[in-house]
Formats: sequence, structure tokens, C-alpha cells
Amino acid sequence: MTNVSTLSGFDPPQEQTAALLAQVGELVEELVTTAASRPVLGNPSGNDLVPGLLDQRPGDQPAEIETILQQLREVLATGVDNAASGELAYIPGSGLLTAALGDLIASTANRYTGLAGFSPAAVALELGVLRWLTELFGLPERAQGLLLSGGSAANLTAIVTAREMHAPDQVQRATVYTGAHAHASVRKAARIAGVPNGQVRVCGSSDGWRLDPRAVEVRIKQDLEDGLLPIAIVGAAGTTNTGAIDPLPALADLARDLGVWFHVDAAYGGFFVLTDRGRARLRGIERADSITLDPHKSLFLPFGTGALLVAERNHLALAFAEESDYLRDHSQDLDALPDFSSITTELTREWRGLRLWLPLQLHGEAAFRDALDDKLDLAEHAWRELEADPNLETLGPPDLSAVTFRVCGDDDLQDALLARVHEDERVRLSTTVIDGHVVLRLVVLSHRTTRDIIDLAVRLIRDAAQELVAGP
Ligand SMILES: *Cc1c(COP(=O)(O)O)cnc(C)c1O
Repeated sequence: MTNVSTLSGFDPPQEQTAALLAQVGELVEELVTTAASRPVLGNPSGNDLVPGLLDQRPGDQPAEIETILQQLREVLATGVDNAASGELAYIPGSGLLTAALGDLIASTANRYTGLAGFSPAAVALELGVLRWLTELFGLPERAQGLLLSGGSAANLTAIVTAREMHAPDQVQRATVYTGAHAHASVRKAARIAGVPNGQVRVCGSSDGWRLDPRAVEVRIKQDLEDGLLPIAIVGAAGTTNTGAIDPLPALADLARDLGVWFHVDAAYGGFFVLTDRGRARLRGIERADSITLDPHKSLFLPFGTGALLVAERNHLALAFAEESDYLRDHSQDLDALPDFSSITTELTREWRGLRLWLPLQLHGEAAFRDALDDKLDLAEHAWRELEADPNLETLGPPDLSAVTFRVCGDDDLQDALLARVHEDERVRLSTTVIDGHVVLRLVVLSHRTTRDIIDLAVRLIRDAAQELVAGP
């Protein structure tokens, strides 16, 4: 294969195209084959590259491919390496090669999928994998899935749909109910949807972690008396802070009894439904009016892949179709392919389905199920090891794969432990604040995280805790 150094056109001749793909392929291969062994914090920050990159402008003439790929390699050798196996901070997202290849094919083919009629088979491919999702979550046959950019976009789409259902043209009176540990994107979605700031009700918890349905009920009844319009109860299926799962069956009962939309934010925890343990813990999710998922979290896909499942397709059309579209589309015929542009904010959209379809086809569902089962095992293992250490206290066994703990001592000691563990560079943890106290988090969610990495993390944490508790 001859290396070409510059491209001679937008659609380069066959030989140049092949050479370009080979050179890019080499870079991608490097990224994939070294990911498991790269230390998550091993890179320099990259701050020194920032001024030059901000000042860089495209040349008038084509740059040399080698020079440009070399520059990309330099950028990729800096910053936090989220794709590394030791990424245990926040909610890790690892990124599958097969999904990236789906993107490459989809973008190159550039099929238009905003309207189903142009390329019905391409749209059906996406709708098929969306049906896999709605079936996986036990939603009715009339359910509709959507692939969006992330959990925030999914929560926004859900809240707007709930608003259209329960407070059309009366958003000033709309109220939303959620828990103290709900993700910030839920409050953001309500605000963007026009719900007045004071009308997002953060309801109490009986155990400190999970939304208390009784507290929600009392609040909703009071608001109804006051002439407000409750539009949605938002439960979490895996809070970002601790992975706790709200009591979904009781929240579903309440929403049904009071005629309010029930949204479940399962951006972190949703795909654990593939496992037996996860399915049992997520019971009740099948009764949601809508479910937020993040395939870029618990399905290991690259960033930029969120999903929303809505139990009744027509509710989306009510919120997002322009009238003429909607009337034309208002068919009860389940076999009709819906137009994505009539059920989302987007008109022209990327063919997102392929980035979900290709990995599922090429790896098979069992690979995802087994990997997620393994994450549950690893989190439980980490929890046991940390719980057994007299210098540490955990905040209870994990509901899913997030382990929360503290080193015995004040908040400064938590930050000190984080810094000490990070000195090793091979694992990254994060902290949060719960009930006014700094808490450390270890979240097992990267497909690359293995028992070796967890054992390393546990050892680093225990050693650091011992040194810190013993004092200087
Ligand atoms: C990550 C997360 C979100 C936001 O999703 P993005 O994909 O980051 O926009 C919402 N809710 C929960 C529970 C999350 O963990």
C-alpha cells in the first residue's frame, strides 16, 4: 500500500481512498489494542497544546495526511483517558470499536432517516433495534424508542412530552416531582420545558437514598388542591451519586392513581436489565410512561448515544409533530414506519441506529449480558473488600455497580485519599457530596475493567487509607 500524502479531491481516487482508510485504520487499531493497558491518568494534561490548537486554522491547500494524523496522536496522548480500563470515576463510558465502525458506515452512506419513506429499510433497521429496546424493558407494543445524543436530551424529550400531555398551554401551572439524588439534567429539562423554577419539587426520602412515594403523594395532593398541574413523577433507576434505585412499583402505582406521567431516568442503570439481578432490581420499570437510557454508559457505546423509550408512540407525535405531519401520520397502523422528524426535535438527523445495531449483531446480546453481570460481581467484590477494612466505611452494598465509601475522618481526608490513589495513575475515582459530606465513588462500568484493575484499586485505596488514618 502506497501512502499518499495529500488528497486530490473530496472523493479521492480509489487508491487514495484505500490508503487513507488504511492510515486511519492504523490509528484506530492502535487506540483499541492499547486501551486496556493505558493508565487512565498517565498522560500530561495537554494544557500546553491548547493555545496552538486554538490558533490553528485550516490551510488553503491540503495538509499532509501523515502530519495531520501525527497531530491527532499528539492530542490523544494528553488528557484523561476515559477509554482506559482503570476509569472508575463518575459514570464511566468506554466506547466500542464496532459502534464507531457503524458510525463510519452510516456517515459515509449518509442516508436520510428523518422521514421513513426515503430509505425505509435503513429506518427499519433502526426501528428494529429500538423494538429490541422497548421489548427488553417490557413496554407495550405501541411503545416507541428514539436514539438521541444522550441522557440529558432524553430527559428533556420526556419532560416536554409529559408537559404536552398534562399541561398543554398551561406550563405556568406545571409541576414536576423528583428525588434529592435526581440527576441535574432532570431539573434542567424542566426549566427548559418552561416549568417555573419553584415548581420542580424535590421530594423526601425515607432512607436517605431513594425517593419516598409517600412524600411525593403528599406533595402532589397539596399541589392539586392549590390548582397546580402535576405533569411528571421522575424516578431514578440508578442515581448518579450512589446507583440507588427508587421504589419503581410504588411510584408507578402513585402515578397511575393520580394520573401523572411516570418517567424513569435509567441513564446509568437501565441496561442492567439484561442481567437477572438487574432485572429483579429494576422491577416496575416496565410500567413507566417513558424511560431514559444511555447506551453510552451501560451499553459501552461511544459518547453521543442516549435513548428515550415512550410507552405510547402517539404521545411523542402529540408533542413533536407539526400539525400537518401529525394528521398525515395519525394512523393506528402499527406496521407503518414512523417518521423520526415527527416524534423528535430533529428533522435531519444522523443514522444513529447503526451504531447500536452493528455492535449488537457482531457481539450478540449475551456478550453484553455477561459483561454487565461481571460489572455487578466486580462492584460487589470491591464493596466487600472496602467494607472489611477498619479504616474505611461504605455507604452500604451497591444496588448496581457504584460503590460509595469514606475513609474514617473528615472531608479533607477524603480528598487526600483521592489524591493519593491518583498518584498511581492507573485508576481514577471521583467524589461527590451526600448529606453535606464528601464521599468517594468507585463505579465499575467500562467494558475494559477487569478483576485485576478492581484488585489494584482496592489495594491502592486500602493502602492510602491506612497511611492517612495512621497520620504523619
Ligand atoms: C449521565 C446521566 C444523565 C445525563 O446523561 P448525559 O448522557 O450525560 O446527557 C441523566 N441521568 C442520569 C441518572 C445519569 O447518570
